Amino acid sequence: MQMFEDKGLTTSEVTQMLQSLLADDVGFASGRPVASMSTEPHSLGVEVFSRSMEKNAGRFHTFAGSAKVEREVIDMIGDLLHLAEPFGTTTSGGTESNILAMLSHREAARKKTGMREIIASKTVHASVDKAAWILGMKLVKTEVDDQFKAVPDAIEHAIGPNTVGIFATAGTTYLGQVDPIEEIADTASKHRLPLHIDAAFGGFVIPFLNDLGIGHHAFDFQVDGVTSVSTDPHKMGLGPIPCGCILFRSERHLKTVTRQVPYLRGASAFQPTLLGTRPAGSILGTWAVMKHLGRSGYRSIVRQCMKRTMNIKDRVEPSSTLSLAIQPVMNILGIKTKVVSLELATQKMEDRGWRIDLSPLPPTMRIVVMPHMTDGTVNALLNDLEEAAGTVPSD
Ligand code: PLP
Repeated sequence: MQMFEDKGLTTSEVTQMLQSLLADDVGFASGRPVASMSTEPHSLGVEVFSRSMEKNAGRFHTFAGSAKVEREVIDMIGDLLHLAEPFGTTTSGGTESNILAMLSHREAARKKTGMREIIASKTVHASVDKAAWILGMKLVKTEVDDQFKAVPDAIEHAIGPNTVGIFATAGTTYLGQVDPIEEIADTASKHRLPLHIDAAFGGFVIPFLNDLGIGHHAFDFQVDGVTSVSTDPHKMGLGPIPCGCILFRSERHLKTVTRQVPYLRGASAFQPTLLGTRPAGSILGTWAVMKHLGRSGYRSIVRQCMKRTMNIKDRVEPSSTLSLAIQPVMNILGIKTKVVSLELATQKMEDRGWRIDLSPLPPTMRIVVMPHMTDGTVNALLNDLEEAAGTVPSD
């Protein structure tokens, strides 16, 4: 069969075909994706994005208005993360931000010879492994404590002559844990090493937990010794995909990841991103959502997600078949099974239409309580979870 036919189809034929292909997607509106760090983007962001399809953030000389909007997104996120004069860029998400952070560590230590090393705890996101692989660097992974937090002493112990930087996480992928950033930052400063904080998820959660008195985490630029922080508007920022952001404390760090593109003019000629052509629409959408929700809007969303997280905790804790890996720090839970295997329970949940993940460290079912999860979804999820975890296989 010819896949790319000579004669085109009518728009309604195309639309119908696409609709039938997409029937297999499990959208957020169904409430079924319960381990995703993305959610249904805010409708204002969708509307703005859909009107901005032609705009290219790799061509800020042409789309100078979009460049101003990106600047405002960076400044708003800088304000959120306690950095009055942020140097940074929006990115395609947490992966690109981590690659840029590691690149900045590598480039700042150009004089070092040999295989350059980055130190991070075992709970860093897989994109940090990917970054080391791409950049030809070695990732040295250190132990975590019984709460799955990085251990500052283990990080200090791992520092050697080839170390060029440290990564820590504020809102780990598996459990939403926050590493002891202040202590790690002291170690980084003592050894004059740059410290990147991956707050891809936590950046749009922790400031509001702090406001609500649910947490007291210093994780961003208010901690001396933190040199860069990444956070993703396309996660708890409710912006349209793709929109991540990395901020550097100093211009020097941003410069290390910036390349000149000789044939482009003006603002387009200097790219601090891995991508060339990239959508400006999701940046504009994010700007609109941040302006519209304001801090109070995000605070309400975080409050609601935490209420539902605690509802799950309250039902799992007394259960004879389920348990929690740790007390939830943010709207992420790691759930263990007591009777049947995790794999079996997870498969049963998938068979019932839930879209759920299995984390390796610690082995848990991972639930991320995003805004698309309503009280009804949480209740249905728990009913199914209790059944899936409660049946011992007959053989
Ligand atoms: N960092 C952390 C802590 C994450 O949890 C994730 C994704 O879940 C990423 C980075 C990668 O983000 P993205 O999928 O947007 O590239």
